[in-house]
Amino acid sequence: MAELTLQQRATALLSRFYGYNKFRPHQLEIITAAMEGRDTVVLMPTGGGKSICYQLPAMLSEGVVIVVSPLIALMRDQVTALRANGIPAASVNSMQTEEENQSIMRELFSGRIRLLYISPERLLMEIDRWSRDMKIALIAVDEAHCISQWGHDFRPHYTQLSRIKQVFPSVPVMALTATADRLTREDIARQLCLVNPAVFISSFDRPNISLRVATDTGRRDRLRRISQLIDRYHRDSGIVYCISRKVAENMDKALRELGYRSAVYHAGLSADERNAAQEKFINGDVQVVCATVAFGMGIDKSNIRWVVHNNLPGNLESYYQEIGRAGRDGAPAEALLFYSYADVATRQSFVDDSGQQALNTEKLARMKEFAESRLCRRRILLSYFNETVDHDCGNCDICLNPPERFDGTTFALMAMSGAIRTGQTIGITTLVNLLRGSAMMELRQRGFDRLPTFGVGRDTSFAEWTAYISQMIQLGIFDIAYNENNHLKVTPYGMRILKERTGVTLARYVPLDRRPTRSRKGAAPAEEEPLKPAERLLADLKEVRLRLARKEGVPPYVVFTDKALLEMVRLEPTSMEDFSRIEGVGERKTVKYWKPFVTAIRRHKGITEKLGAGLSCDETLLLLNAGYDVAAIAAAKEIKDTTVYNHLVQLIRDDKLTDFSTIITREQYARVAQVAREHPDTLFEILAPEMHSGLVRVALAITDFLLRRKANK
Ligand code: ADP
Ligand code: ZN
Repeated sequence: MAELTLQQRATALLSRFYGYNKFRPHQLEIITAAMEGRDTVVLMPTGGGKSICYQLPAMLSEGVVIVVSPLIALMRDQVTALRANGIPAASVNSMQTEEENQSIMRELFSGRIRLLYISPERLLMEIDRWSRDMKIALIAVDEAHCISQWGHDFRPHYTQLSRIKQVFPSVPVMALTATADRLTREDIARQLCLVNPAVFISSFDRPNISLRVATDTGRRDRLRRISQLIDRYHRDSGIVYCISRKVAENMDKALRELGYRSAVYHAGLSADERNAAQEKFINGDVQVVCATVAFGMGIDKSNIRWVVHNNLPGNLESYYQEIGRAGRDGAPAEALLFYSYADVATRQSFVDDSGQQALNTEKLARMKEFAESRLCRRRILLSYFNETVDHDCGNCDICLNPPERFDGTTFALMAMSGAIRTGQTIGITTLVNLLRGSAMMELRQRGFDRLPTFGVGRDTSFAEWTAYISQMIQLGIFDIAYNENNHLKVTPYGMRILKERTGVTLARYVPLDRRPTRSRKGAAPAEEEPLKPAERLLADLKEVRLRLARKEGVPPYVVFTDKALLEMVRLEPTSMEDFSRIEGVGERKTVKYWKPFVTAIRRHKGITEKLGAGLSCDETLLLLNAGYDVAAIAAAKEIKDTTVYNHLVQLIRDDKLTDFSTIITREQYARVAQVAREHPDTLFEILAPEMHSGLVRVALAITDFLLRRKANK
């Protein structure tokens, strides 16, 4: 047989182990570069498919692959997922005992483990002890931005990873990250001492995620908008990211009071409590998790339909990574950010304590610009990641609702004189209340109700006023004094407008559609309308998946992702063979899981004929390729050995089986050939005590096959 190219082998492995038919953009090039011994830098958005880039070389090469990763939870998830696909992987980390870790290292050296996940601390501890001629195919450094001071998640241990190249100069290193601007990218290559690395940058665009920003929304309004999201996707789930533990807890409580199934997740909870929350989320027992940023790392839950930022993130990298957890299956998803000046102040105080004040202030400023912008948000976001975009996206609030402009000079003049008359000692909320002539106590106490500007803007709603003043801030008419309780200060530019009465153009405020909310305390979850057939099948398959996952003690997505289940719903496979063709179903999972899923699908389709009848040769071939012997195939398919042998004979006759080493030994074959030559008529009788008659027939079929091949030559 001709040698397979690297590309062919990689594609075959992708299909065998992962059940995927083709590589995503860059994956094959990255794998090829690594296999050729080149250092690589891989930039791909979350969900882009980075893991396969370093996992496949473990199977393509004789050497092992070492993966450096800072996140223990993520390591464990990946190891579980790899094993579910039949790939021997393990991790060495501080959650395991020293004995466990040592035994894993021994297995690695003996070649029984193909992929090892290890924390940077641990790697640095071990690397000098490792034999320099240990066969390592590749060392992958995941979350590589952690190495850079410029990044948003700097980890000091990462800076020492330059040891890798010192100790193993000829082993290729692959640095992977989902977040890196140009500065960070160059820093990664330099700090890891990569030699002339091949750099692969995937598009960071996630066009299926719609982007929305809601400015200065009050608590009631926020709850209403979140309720709408939960209702809209009441069978799926979402995340509300909050700035602090307390905010997360309050949000969780409020949502539960509205009758939603919610859980809370933050670093202040015990490990058990956190695991329980994560479990509920993954299993779909809750519709929403109210979390601090600690949540979501490494969750490969593909049906997160929406992500809300209850508070402004500190930088665009974090924002993008967090919204990226939605819609990993490619179906439409929503990202909604609530923006308020109070959050800017809080974030600024975090920045001041961060030890990298200048850099982080700059990053916060970019985040703020994004939130305040009246331009296509995706363009701003992608240009931040150094990607050029020449068109508006059509899937953000600005594109969907282009602001109508109008002459807002009167509004600007009213607002500025209002602020000035208070001696510029008030923030936005008080100013709006003043302009609207509110009966607020504070206004009366401070004598503001006697000012000529009191109530001049009463015809304009609170929300509308707030929006206009925000715009005035963006336009540079007002400045917010973060160091003075966020009071509004009229800028020199504002003063000039005030004096010269020059025109100010504002974007017309568009009120939110006021859909009714469910405000009754303890209201039942949304009325469940009857399911469509496809939804019913999906629900059935999810049941099956959950049952299997519980039995094995793994998260449901380790059994199958939602995307794979959706494919099953679409294609309704009713045989093992068809099942194996589903994207995301590799050989190992076919053999292990086809029966319960196919049974559910057949029941759904009203097929009553018993499963197992009429199973084809191809199914036998599939099992054989997956490493099953005759007895195991017979057991898996619940058929007789004889039937399996019949299939084998047929497969050999059809030239579908050309490697016989797994079904018959050299000695067995030689023995049959000898007896066949000497006693052709009593062949089966003579061999009966030694081997299954089926095996004899297989041997004879092989002889025919060899003769046929000779004749063709
Ligand atoms: P990342 O590490 O970049 O966030 P993952 O490696 O976890 O992303 O991949 C995200 C999802 O995409 C996973 O479910 C993965 O199995 C799937 N995936 C990766 N490569 C392919 C491919 N070539 N075809 C189909 N699905 C893929
Ligand atoms: Zn847009």
